Amino acid sequence: MTPSTAHAPSSIHRIGVIGGGQLAWMMGPAAQRLGLELVVQTPSEADPAVAMAQSAVLAPVADVAGTTALADQCDVITFENEFIDCAGLQPLADRGVRFRPRLEVLNLVLDKRHQREFFARIGLPNPRCAVLDGAESEAELHQRAADLGFPLVMKTRRLGYDGYGTRVVRAPEEVLATWDSFQRAPVLMEEFVPFTKELAIMVARSATGDIALYPTVETVQVNQICRRVVAPAAVSTAVADTMTHLGRTLAEQLELVGIVGMECFLTQDDRVLVNEIAPRTHNSGHYSLDACATSQFEQQLRAVSDLPLGSPHLTCAQAVMVNLLGLAESEASHEQKLAQLQQLPQATLYWYNKGIRPGRKLGHITQRLESGTDPIAAAEAIEALWYGPNPISS
Ligand code: ADP
Repeated sequence: MTPSTAHAPSSIHRIGVIGGGQLAWMMGPAAQRLGLELVVQTPSEADPAVAMAQSAVLAPVADVAGTTALADQCDVITFENEFIDCAGLQPLADRGVRFRPRLEVLNLVLDKRHQREFFARIGLPNPRCAVLDGAESEAELHQRAADLGFPLVMKTRRLGYDGYGTRVVRAPEEVLATWDSFQRAPVLMEEFVPFTKELAIMVARSATGDIALYPTVETVQVNQICRRVVAPAAVSTAVADTMTHLGRTLAEQLELVGIVGMECFLTQDDRVLVNEIAPRTHNSGHYSLDACATSQFEQQLRAVSDLPLGSPHLTCAQAVMVNLLGLAESEASHEQKLAQLQQLPQATLYWYNKGIRPGRKLGHITQRLESGTDPIAAAEAIEALWYGPNPISS
């Protein structure tokens, strides 16, 4: 963390959060500690954060009237979900409603094309890509795909998450069918990166320009959904330094007030390529709740309410976080497995109280580890309890 300048007491007490899922829910205890009140905008009374918030505006996250009502109750508005109607919210910003991060930052991440153009502008290396707006001919599609080479990855430019909207295209004859499966929506096609690891970092920045950089972590995806996170990542100092340099550049260039997650690929020759960013708390930072001096949730609240940033440092040698996705099993079976996970030493379980659906992120568990412990073995032991004895290769 860069040295903090003196902070006047903050006049921000009520924080509006767009989105009421598990990310908003996990802000709850930190808000309470900091003496802040949370108001969430989320479609359903049953969403995880509603019960812990001081109040809720029950409206979809992209509902501008909902955000107008939220703004009337709050000193600042932040996000746990970026799928908002940026243009619709601009009049609110124009009349002085404080969005942190700024709407321009949200607008940038809403379209993967804009993200990539921004990365190029500020010097963040990223995979080679081509964009399609939707009106291109089949010949153009094939030409751009051929220019990239195969395999390639096709992604919808908007509203993709957890791999929904991302497909690997292995050969020329699959290109058109894949685009058709996206209804020929605007897409990004990019080189398939044969990464050795996927890395991520969380970076917080305050309005006064202080920056807090969390450790670089390794994330492991199964079927494009995050399965586990190991903190810190086992990478060379040079790679860790590159991650912090890129993370700092990103936060500064965004003029971010809040927190941002940056997801990257590490190539065989130790180059870091930035895949995507999320200007909010992120699954890859959940471990910070139990393994860092200041969690990503507290840090976001601190940044947006003009409180000094806290230390992002690890408070243990290392930690693993495993996502608990819904299983094609009974509720009783989920409960039985949760009871087993609860017995693990140095572990904290988070269950989001969402309806059980196979593949849905329902909870996570973080285990703090001593130095010398094998984090992969620790993660595999947790995964074996939840998913069964089929360890993912890593
Ligand atoms: P989403 O926006 O849905 O999270 P991502 O772009 O993060 O989609 O992709 C999800 C996962 O798919 C990544 O974490 C990675 O495992 C894999 N993936 C995405 N792009 C590439 C690529 N260019 N090369 C190799 N794997 C990729």
